[in-house]
This record gives sequence, structure tokens and C-alpha cells, in this order.
Amino acid sequence: MTSRQTKRVAMKKTTGMDRAATRNWRPATRAVRGGTWRSEHGETSEALFLTSGYTYDDAQTVADRFAGDAEGMTYSRLQNPTVAMLEERIALLEGAEACRAQASGMAAMTAALLCQVSAGDHVVAARAAFGSCRWLVDELLPKFGVETSVIDSADDAAWEAAIRPNTKVFFFETPANPTLDVVDLKHVCALAKAHGITSVVDNAFASPALQRPMEFGADVVAYSATKLMDGQGRVLAGAICGSEEWINETLMPFQRNTGPTISAFNAWVVHKGLETLQLRAHKQSEQAVALGEFLEPRISKGGGRMLHPGLPSHPRHNLAKAQMDATGPIFAFDVGTRARAFALLDALELIDISNNIGDARSLMCHPASSTHAGMSEEGRTEMDVTEGLLRINVGLEDPADLMEDLDQALAAAEL
Ligand SMILES: *Cc1c(COP(=O)(O)O)cnc(C)c1O
Repeated sequence: MTSRQTKRVAMKKTTGMDRAATRNWRPATRAVRGGTWRSEHGETSEALFLTSGYTYDDAQTVADRFAGDAEGMTYSRLQNPTVAMLEERIALLEGAEACRAQASGMAAMTAALLCQVSAGDHVVAARAAFGSCRWLVDELLPKFGVETSVIDSADDAAWEAAIRPNTKVFFFETPANPTLDVVDLKHVCALAKAHGITSVVDNAFASPALQRPMEFGADVVAYSATKLMDGQGRVLAGAICGSEEWINETLMPFQRNTGPTISAFNAWVVHKGLETLQLRAHKQSEQAVALGEFLEPRISKGGGRMLHPGLPSHPRHNLAKAQMDATGPIFAFDVGTRARAFALLDALELIDISNNIGDARSLMCHPASSTHAGMSEEGRTEMDVTEGLLRINVGLEDPADLMEDLDQALAAAEL
């Protein structure tokens, strides 16, 4: 017993940032074993620490921790053991020096941008993006005197043409939500590096199981962990990966004082989700290709477009295959009109109408009236989010059941 009459448990960091211990582990092992700290109880599943604060043996320990002279937790806005375990596991999967978990994907995107820009800076962003990511670029940053340019991210030359002397950040998704635009990571990240620009990649559609942008030179990788990382549609979560220096010196002053902190419970759920990420991401990608192949003839016959990086008809199919291990569970297709898109959705019997993605359940939505409803009509047109566009997240159900459901729903929509 300590002098405070409470038994203290020494956490043993069995893995995690101990590079020597984890260096040779392959990705599947990192996903299951990375970021495990065990208490003296030897629990197999990582512990969930629901605590906002911490107690100390004596006053000097508090002073030392706040001064940064001693390791240890001080307050859960700044550190929490469960959250730290999640951050270690994500960093290992990403191949990043450091990671900080966030309350949601949008908390991650907001922090990743705001922590590094000042009035007078310029940000170049991809035109095709999640609606709220576009809001950050189109509305929030300009409000604080940050100039922004939005470009066609699949046009390699457009990136260079958009650079100004004050360009600080490149911000893009690949594949992008919901039009599945694919950005040439190597080209764009090298261009950023050559001009002293920080590249920030929103990797939510792929997850580190399918694409690791840092291998292609990305500086910062940001996540909605709500998607494939959780994988079962339970919690909101986000993460930012970068170099130790960038995380500590650029992100942390912003994060510790503004508090986009993830709850320990949500961190624990995502941490457990990561153990099956590899299996789910690859299986769902495989099923998404099978479903895309099934749908393509029907959609093209009706004059519609398929937007699926896993199919040869995608303009950047080869690039997607070169920079991704598999092309992911999400694709989109155009059925011509909103009426037809709604008729198809309403006829679904198995696949849910839902705007979430990355879930083990198959989900479908109409981006123009949901995820991108907050944008102006011109904005949607410029992004190619058409009135007939449908987006699907392919889950883990038997693909034959999914095809039967789509088959009857297509017939109901007269396709
Ligand atoms: C969902 C999503 C986000 C936002 O994440 P939340 O966890 O919902 O806040 C950001 N970017 C992309 C590409 C997304 O799909």
C-alpha cells in the first residue's frame, strides 16, 4: 500500500512505441498486439480507463509532471492510458512516428489544419471532398484570413499551378468522398516537399490497412476512425499521424488547449476494432469489386456512370492499385435522376439506407441530399455530386444476398 492507502498498479508497456520490440512485426501482428499496456492483473483485453483526472503520491510529483520533467498522466484532456494505447496502435499501423486520437474525424481535420495555419497563409485543397472538409476550406479558414484554392485533385498539373509564395498546406482525400477521385500521392507529396508545403491526407476511405500515405511522402495523415477503424458503426473517433516533432510542436499546443479529445470509451472501442481491420478492409474491398462488376453492365446500359477505383473503367484504376493494397469498400454510381436514386433506395430490402461508411453492414445513401446537402448546388455540380449519384459501402454480408437485393431494387427503379 502506498501512503495514500490505495494500491497502485504498475502498467507494463508490453508493446507500443518500443520500436525494438515491434520493428519486425508485420501489419496483422501490429493490429492485434501493438499498443498493449498490461496492468499487474495481466488482463488479455486492454483495460478501459474511464477517468478524467489522476492522483499523485506527493506534491513534487505533480510539479515534475506539469514541468515535463517526469513521465506520467496529469489530466485526460492531455493523456489517458486507454487513449494512449489506441494512439500507439494507429501509429504502428500507419508507420508513423506519432499519433494523437481525436473526438471525431472532423475534430481531426479541423485540428490538423488550424494548428498550423495563420492569417495570410494559403491552403490548396482538393475539390472532391467530404462536405464538412469542404466547409473548413470554403468557410472556416477564409473567416480567419487564410486564403484557400480548390482544385481538381486528379489533375496533377493543377497542384503546381495553384502554389503561391504563401502556400502552407495541401489538403486532400484519396479516394475522395463521394466521387472516388484518386490523387497521385507520390507526385503531390513530392511537390509539397519541394516547396516547403505540408501535405495533409484524409485517409478515411482507405484506412492504414489499405493505404499508408506516408510511404509516398505524406507529412500528416488524418482519419475519421468512425469509419473502417471502428468498422461496426458504434462510435465517433478520429486520429492525426505525423512526425514526433510535428505532433509535439505543431499539433499539441493546439490540441491540449482546445480539447478535441476522444473519450476513453470510444478509444477503447476503436482499439478493439483495429484488431480485425485488416480482415474486414480486405474482405469488404473484395466484395465491393464483385458488386461493382455485377452493377456496371446494368448501370452503363442505362447510360449511368460507375465511380469505382477497383474497376478498370475508373480513370485512375492503375494508380489506385499501385498505391493501395486493395481499393476499399466504398464506390458510387449514377442512375440519372434523384427520383430514380430514391426509388432504388426505397426498394432495398437488405441494404440499409444510411450515410455512414466503413461499417460491416452494407449501407447506401444519396450524397446530394445527405453528406453533401450543406453545399450549394453549384458546389455540388463543380464536385460532380450529381442528383442521380448513389454511394454504397459494401459490408461483410454474403455478396450473393447483396446482389439479389440490388437486382430487385434496380428493377424497381426501372434499371
Ligand atoms: C466521415 C468522414 C469525415 C468526418 O468524420 P467524422 O468521424 O464523421 O467526424 C472526414 N473525412 C472523410 C473522408 C469522411 O468520410
